[in-house]
Amino acid sequence: MTEKIYCGKCNNMLYFGEEIKRRLYMRAIPNEETVLGYYKNVCPKCGSSLSLSTVKIETKGRKTWLTAQK
Ligand SMILES: [Zn+2]
Repeated sequence: MTEKIYCGKCNNMLYFGEEIKRRLYMRAIPNEETVLGYYKNVCPKCGSSLSLSTVKIETKGRKTWLTAQK
């Protein structure tokens, strides 16, 4: 499973990597909001404010029991 986070306004890619929910167990990245916090909740490209409701989150990969629960 990989996860991508894009700015909802300009499609600038903000995060790409292993699905954050899985990294939760490794305590690498607590959640999406933490990723947005790396950018101080502002898109570095267009200056648009970033929140879970303004970014696009895309997860790809084969289905697991974890995603099947959604
Ligand atoms: Zn942007």
